[in-house]
Order: sequence, then structure tokens, then C-alpha cells
Amino acid sequence: MDHFDYRNGVLHAEDVPMSAIAEAVGTPVYIYSRATLERHAQVFRDALSAIPNKHIAFAIKANPNLAVLKVLAKQGYGADIVSGGEMKRALAAGMAAHDIVFSGVGKTRIELREALESGVGQFNIELEEEGVALAEIAASLGMTATAVLRVNPDVDAGTHAKISTGMKENKFGVPIDEAGAIFTRLAALPGLAMRGLALHIGSQLFDFGPIEAAYAKVGALALDLRAQGQDIDRVDLGGGLGVPYERGKVPPTPADYGAMVERVTRGWGLKLMFEPGRVIVGNAGVLLTRVIWVKPGVARPYIIVDAAMNDLARPAMYDAWHDFEAVAPTGARMSANIAGPVCESGDTFAVNRDIDVVKSGDLAVFRTAGAYGATMASTYNSRALVPEVMVDGDRFAVVAERVLPETLIAAERVPDFLRD
Ligand SMILES: *Cc1c(COP(=O)(O)O)cnc(C)c1O
Repeated sequence: MDHFDYRNGVLHAEDVPMSAIAEAVGTPVYIYSRATLERHAQVFRDALSAIPNKHIAFAIKANPNLAVLKVLAKQGYGADIVSGGEMKRALAAGMAAHDIVFSGVGKTRIELREALESGVGQFNIELEEEGVALAEIAASLGMTATAVLRVNPDVDAGTHAKISTGMKENKFGVPIDEAGAIFTRLAALPGLAMRGLALHIGSQLFDFGPIEAAYAKVGALALDLRAQGQDIDRVDLGGGLGVPYERGKVPPTPADYGAMVERVTRGWGLKLMFEPGRVIVGNAGVLLTRVIWVKPGVARPYIIVDAAMNDLARPAMYDAWHDFEAVAPTGARMSANIAGPVCESGDTFAVNRDIDVVKSGDLAVFRTAGAYGATMASTYNSRALVPEVMVDGDRFAVVAERVLPETLIAAERVPDFLRD
């Protein structure tokens, strides 16, 4: 459930009409609802109420905006980070360092050192060489790094290939049949406290079959290692829960997920870690856009909007669906393609879509744009970097400014050898 609803025929974010934000900030602009973020954070936590010992870390890569992180920090969420930059954001938002989990297949030695010095609570090791490096750096600082080993359970998550991470040919984790030996070697190193295993098999998961199989495999390995005397106290179950992008295609709920986790992990006696991203922020954001032109096409018109693939990359990158709705629909419908201004055919948001009738100048939104939206934005075609707004009841604030081409140009240099 979200707080983007029509009132008197106009789409609102909580108590604010979209048109008011468009007027104040311009378009395109991402709009987040604080109440929706809070609700999702609570629903996910409530869904895990039967899990006695747990830690929830929001996967920052889904939406790293400082204001969004602040809302989640107030909800008691920690952070799952994949870079030194994300660590800086988590700390800036007031998240405690010991609540931060450092994931990612390519952490540099510099990032590992900075994270250790900042007191990051857990390192999710992706390969043996990384673990050896982390042990050396920690020992040289007179510290002990708390770590888990990310296991690749070799299951097909059944999601889009670009967001599938748990098959053995993917770049993530160590093969499950080698994980026990690697864990044992790493656990013997000074500077490293190896405490458990981690997995994350993919994103936008709709089917619990693969994830359940993966949890069971990794849990069995963790219990096996503990039986061998290893000091295992946790398993990090990753993220990946799907959200409804398209009306009628409904993923399992957080409650369904919580019940599944409780059933699969019963009796493990371990702390469980969770890294939700999309399910927390996806439906808490929309991308507000204005129709520039309605261009006649061969079979149907192209709705050319002022948002483009540089603002919302998911359709171009993953063939992703985002519902498109007029801010003030008349009730009439049309069949159209929806595209942005970028000079790429891939800059197409929808093909042959049944949508509200819109005309030049009308406002519309792409729904479910709070996850992997603004965070993936670029300035391709020398477009401005898209701004972000947060709504809280009847007020709203710009939480990321539009970065104008002038600002980007000012960061560039023409070298002396090109000066006339
Ligand atoms: C991306 C990612 C997540 C979050 O995935 P969602 O599908 O957004 O929930 C969690 N853990 C790791 C390691 C990730 O890479």
C-alpha cells in the first residue's frame, strides 16, 4: 500500500497535489512519500516478528538519498552497502557503523580499511583473496573484522538475467561446494572473526521456490560448520523480495516471506540478517513527468515525455514495466508508445500501452519508481541530473537538487594544450 492517490481527480502524494510540486520544482522529478517509506519499513519488520534474533539492513543501492536513509534510520534500520560512498551516506544519515553490512564483489583495499576504521559491523566476503586482504588490514590496525562468507548456492532465481545473482556462473559469492573449506581457512586467520554465511540470489523475486532451496542449502552448511566447531552465530539471507510494478501481477507479501523464513530457519538457533531494498522503497516513489509532444506514429502515437532513460533506466536496462498514469485523467483511454527525448531507440518506456489520454503539457507519473530510479540516473545527452522531493503530509521539500548542465560543465577542464 502507498500514499499516492487521486483526490478530486488529481493525483496526490499524501496531501500534496502533483501539480504543486511540478510548479515549484519543475519536471522531471522523483517524488517520495515519507508515510509510505515508514509503512513499508514497519510492514517488513512486522513480517519478521516471529524471528527472535534478527538485523535488518536497508540495501542502500536501491535508494541512497540522504532523506530516505534518514527516515529508515529513524525506523531502526541499518544499512547494506556496496561501496565506500554508500558507507559515507549511511553514516551521514545517522546510521550506526555497527549496523552496517559491507557487501559487494569488488571492495578495494582502501574501502576495506576505511570501513574497518569507521567501525562497520560486518563484512560479507565474496572470495578468499578478499578475506585474506581484510585479515591483513585488520591485523595491521590491531583490529578484528567481523565477517561472513557469501555463498553462491547455484539456484536460478527465475528473475531477469541482469538481476539474477545466485547461479554458479554469476560473479557473486564462492561456490557452495568450496565454501566450507574456504570458510575454515579464513577462520584460522588472525584479524578475522568469521561468524557465518551470506547469500543473495537476485532481485524482484516472485517465486519462493528457489529462495527457499537456497536458504535451506546455506543453512545446512552453516549448521555443519558450527558442528565442526566454527564460531557461527548468523546467516545473512540477503534481499530480493519483489514489488508489484504492473497492476494484476502481485508478488508474495512480506508476511508470506516472513512465514517462509520462519519455517525454513526454525531450529537453526542463529541470528538472521536481512537486506531488503526494492520492497521498502519501490512503491514509495514516483517519477513525475510532463508530456512534451504527442507525435503521430505508424500504428499509434508516441507520447514524448520530458523524463528519459537517463532519469529512469530500468525500462531500457531490464525491459522493466512502470505503470503510467495521468495526474488529472479525463477517463478517456488511448493506445500509445511512451518515449523520452534521448537520442536512443532504447529510450522507450512503453510500447503499445493502454493509457490515460494525455496531450502536450499534461503531467503524468511513472509509478513504483522509488527503487533503482534516481540512484541510476545519469546526465546522458547533457541533461540535468534529476531532482528528488520528499512529501510529508501537506508539506514537501527538495531532497536532491536538479544538477544543471552549467554545474556539470563547471567541473570540466579544457587543458592548456587546447587553449588558443
Ligand atoms: C541489491 C542487493 C540487495 C537488495 O536487493 P533488493 O532486490 O533491492 O531487495 C541485498 N543484498 C545484496 C547483497 C544486494 O546486492
